[in-house]
Amino acid sequence: MTDVAEADTEGRSVLAASGEVRVRVPAKVNLHLGVGPLRPDGYHALTTVYHAISLFDDLVATRADRLSLSITGEGAGELPTDENNLVVRAVHALARHTCREPNVALRLTKQIPVAGGLAGGSADAAAALVACDALWGTGLSRVELAKIAAEIGSDVPFLVLGGTALGTGRGEMVSPVLAPGTWHWVVAVASVGLSTPEVYAELDRLRAAGRAAGVGESPPEQLLAALRQHDPQVLAAALTNDLQPAAISLRPGLRRTLRAGMDEGALGGFVSGSGPSCVFLARDADHAAKLAARLAGRGVCRAVRTAHGPVPGARVVA
Ligand code: C5P
Repeated sequence: MTDVAEADTEGRSVLAASGEVRVRVPAKVNLHLGVGPLRPDGYHALTTVYHAISLFDDLVATRADRLSLSITGEGAGELPTDENNLVVRAVHALARHTCREPNVALRLTKQIPVAGGLAGGSADAAAALVACDALWGTGLSRVELAKIAAEIGSDVPFLVLGGTALGTGRGEMVSPVLAPGTWHWVVAVASVGLSTPEVYAELDRLRAAGRAAGVGESPPEQLLAALRQHDPQVLAAALTNDLQPAAISLRPGLRRTLRAGMDEGALGGFVSGSGPSCVFLARDADHAAKLAARLAGRGVCRAVRTAHGPVPGARVVA
């Protein structure tokens, strides 16, 4: 590594790196996920509050005369390294927008569980955009990057931004929200992932049969107030996920995981996004560590991690 890209006040990368660029990107949870009706374009209208947590993937980009992607860590064997990977799609999208050849060698090290409702694939796409932007010295602003990010997936713009943010549209329109202080979480990782489109389709089926309601697109006032107040008990009572009944319908064992977390002293628990990861709110870091140890002993999930949030979105690191 020689020189790292620096950012101006607009967040543009102003110095193209000549060596390699290393980007760290977080996972996300949805503290509020209100799902509205299915739109004609096949997406659901959403009102969501995204929150970036300290489970990270790392992406290293180096100059090359063709595009290549190698993956190690979580889910490495099961992930595609071709156009079916959002990372590759992100590189092509950025190259197209900036009239370049999509040439870069990418090494991805994953800690974020695959198909876990933590937006790992979207996070990697956000990392690829930020890494190639720096490596190629495109001079794009964060806003311009976010627009390209939205073409790749609904969660990708948030993972460029990070922190805590309100998401509307299909989730791609994001604006930061005031959320002072740090929250402490325990994440229960399942052995087998869930498909996001299948979970949305299950919610449509449950709603058509009158078996699921939810908050829909109503504004997340209670959740936003709880974030401002920074009282974990108040936040616990405001956590909402309209997709949770659908995830549980497809994976009934999640009920047991959620119950185990609450039995072991979590303040609140919910399925993350489309699942199947379950996320529990702790009072503080110490409580999170104890809760994680107790939950790990219950045999209700493949792995247990602690995390805190909010953390920044995809960033170049030294
Ligand atoms: O945007 P992304 O490609 O990540 O979405 C994956 C799938 O999740 C979509 O194809 C769609 O089936 C579902 N989805 C949805 N409504 C949203 C976001 C995602 O129905 N707002």
